[in-house]
Parts: sequence; structure tokens; C-alpha cells
Amino acid sequence: MQVKELEKVEAAGIFGTLTQMGHEQVVFCNDEATGLKAIIGIHNTVLGPALGGTRMWNYASEQEAITDVLRLSRGMTFKAAISGLNLGGGKAVIIGDAKTQKTEAFMRRFGKFVNSLGGKYITAEDVNMKTADMEYIGMETKHVTGLPESMGGSGDPSPVTAYGVYLGMKSTAKKVYGNDSLVGKKVAVQGVGQVGMYLVEHLVKEGAKVTINDISEEKVKMLVEKFGVATVGADALYDLDMDIYAPCALGATLNDNTIPRLKAAIVAGAANNQLKDELKHGYMLRDKSITYAPDFLINAGGLINVYNEYLGNYNRKRALEQAEKIYTTNLNILTLAENEKISSQEAAIKLSEKRIEEVGRVRIPR
Ligand code: NAD
Repeated sequence: MQVKELEKVEAAGIFGTLTQMGHEQVVFCNDEATGLKAIIGIHNTVLGPALGGTRMWNYASEQEAITDVLRLSRGMTFKAAISGLNLGGGKAVIIGDAKTQKTEAFMRRFGKFVNSLGGKYITAEDVNMKTADMEYIGMETKHVTGLPESMGGSGDPSPVTAYGVYLGMKSTAKKVYGNDSLVGKKVAVQGVGQVGMYLVEHLVKEGAKVTINDISEEKVKMLVEKFGVATVGADALYDLDMDIYAPCALGATLNDNTIPRLKAAIVAGAANNQLKDELKHGYMLRDKSITYAPDFLINAGGLINVYNEYLGNYNRKRALEQAEKIYTTNLNILTLAENEKISSQEAAIKLSEKRIEEVGRVRIPR
């Protein structure tokens, strides 16, 4: 499997797309009584069960939901593989309005669908899902992670994700500047939600000059008061005089429109699927000498956290220690990309695929 131009892939029809993107199984879940419409994407289970969160979103079309679940589940395969976890890649999307449609029965019905896969897919939280939803899912299946700490779960994964992103940013700085200090570095953090907020805290503590943006005025106000950070308008962010751009809100913010405007030397953030087209835009960044820390590598802290819950006897210290490996893995990837004259995204995918292939061979019975 090579890096794909996903827009071209979508033109190939459902089975053509699954073949090109390498998916094993896609499950459509429909329940008239609760109004549940969900899609579970299982990309690859060579290394282990497909673990990935469930996202609820008011998708404009079914096609948009399918595209999202396919892209996200594929990303999870690489995220688990490059992080050295014994997990495959999967993700689920629920089509609908999280504010009005989520009820106990709705979530438990989804839990029953997850259960019907017998552990091949393990769910967790993603956008618009809360630990309380995981509790309802957990009433119908044991194949769920991200449960509250009070239930023996791992709780909010965001601090671990933010720590990994911070270390990924530091190791990228090491590659670009020769040392990993972020003191005085101008960092623009786009999106100060769960992860962005903790990231800002790490950055301010180290002495970086942080500028933030968020569509929530309340969150911006809170962080300005707490940390004394600067703010910037949504569109003006891309023209800002900055050393590091940290996308921590939405995907696809690295595209034809934004990359030509970026003055940063580094892109390192938490958002999934930051490159609108992972092939084209990975190389556009490289051509502009902007060093990109692959998103699925440096935002793997959340997955590492729930993996620890899945293993049992959850321990936050152990999860944080495992997330520290992101520093070295990222440095190795950036060096590999430099040596092979390829984009860092492609280098990260190559290394993930290598592990899947090698470990997959070990697992074949002889
Ligand atoms: P969140 O919903 O808590 O925060 C996202 C923030 O982005 C919110 O404050 C929101 O107001 C803001 N936002 C939304 N649209 C925006 C826009 N157009 N411009 C500026 N700000 C905007 O989510 P989170 O848990 O902090 O996750 C952030 C990103 O990191 C997401 O892309 C998520 O998929 C990814 N991620 C999160 C985790 C995790 O552990 N939470 C793990 C891996 C990846």
C-alpha cells in the first residue's frame, strides 16, 4: 500500500476504495427504533484488534461519513503500528446530532453492534463522545475503553496526548534548530480544547511565546487570563510571523490555500488528518522547507493511554512514560525522510507498514 491521493480513491466506488485503501471490513449499523445510523471501519487487524474512537457528527451526506470513517480508521492502523502497540486500526462514526439524539438506548444499541464484532473492533471516545457514553456502551459490550477512572478506566486521554505532542514538537525543534529548546519560540496553537489547552500549559511553562486561536471566545478568554498568551483571528493565523504552527482543532488545515502563506519552520500539532491530501501537501511542506511532524505519530498519546487501559491495571505514569517514546520515534522519522528524500508523512507510513509486514509474518502459523 502506498500513500494515496484520497480524492482519486473516492472515485473508485466502495469496493474499489476499500481495496485501494486496504480496509478489511466496513460495517453499517442501522436501528430504526433509536434512530442510530453508524459505520464501523476496520482497516487492519494484523497487529491486534482494531482500536479507535467513535465520532458523532452531523455529516452533510452519507458519502462524507464513509470518507471520514475510512480515512480515520486507516490513520489508526499507522498510529498503532508506529507507536509499537499490538493493535490494529479501526474507527466508528455515528451520523446525527450529538446534542439531541444521544440517549441511553441509542448508545447501548451502538454498544450491541460493537459487541457483535466479538472484539475485532474496540471502541473509545472521539469527537462529541463523553466518558458517560462509554459507560452506556460498556453495559452492552466489554470491547470499550476510555471509561471513567471511577470505573477502573483511564479517564480523559487529553493530558497524555498533549504531552506527546509537546515532546514531538521538541524533537522536531531538535532536528530543525539543533537543540530542542522552545524558549522564545513563537508558537501558534489553533484550537485550545482539551488537548490544545494542556499543550499551551507545557509551552508557556517552558518559555515559548504562544499565540492562540479558537472559535470559542470563552476558551480564548480563559487562557489569556490564565497564561497571558496572545491571540490571533482565524484566517490571520496562517499569515502570522511564527516558528511553529500547532493545529489542534480540525483536520485538512494544511492545503493549497494555507501552505503558501505559512512562514513557520515547523508544523506539529494534535489534530488528525492535518494534510488535506497526504501525498501532495506532505511534499508541498517539504518543498517549502517546513518540517512536518506526522500527526498520527505525535498525537498517539491518547491511543497509548487507552491501550494501557485495555491491557488492564491502568497506570497513568506508565502511559506517560510510553508516550515519551514519541520524541525519539519522531526524530528517527525526520532523519529517515531526509535521508530518503521523501516527505515525513510518507516516511512514517513506510515505517508503520514495515512493522505490520514483519510482525504479520511472525504471526503466521508455521
Ligand atoms: P476539543 O473538541 O476539546 O477541542 C477542539 C477545539 O477546537 C475546541 O476548543 C473548538 O472550539 C476548537 N475549534 C473548532 N473549530 C475550530 C476552528 N475552525 N478554528 C479554531 N478552533 C476551532 O478536541 P480535542 O480533544 O482537544 O482534540 C483536538 C484535536 O486533536 C482533534 O482534531 C482530535 O481529533 C485530535 N486528537 C485528540 C486526542 C485526544 O486525546 N483528545 C487524541 C488524538 C487526536
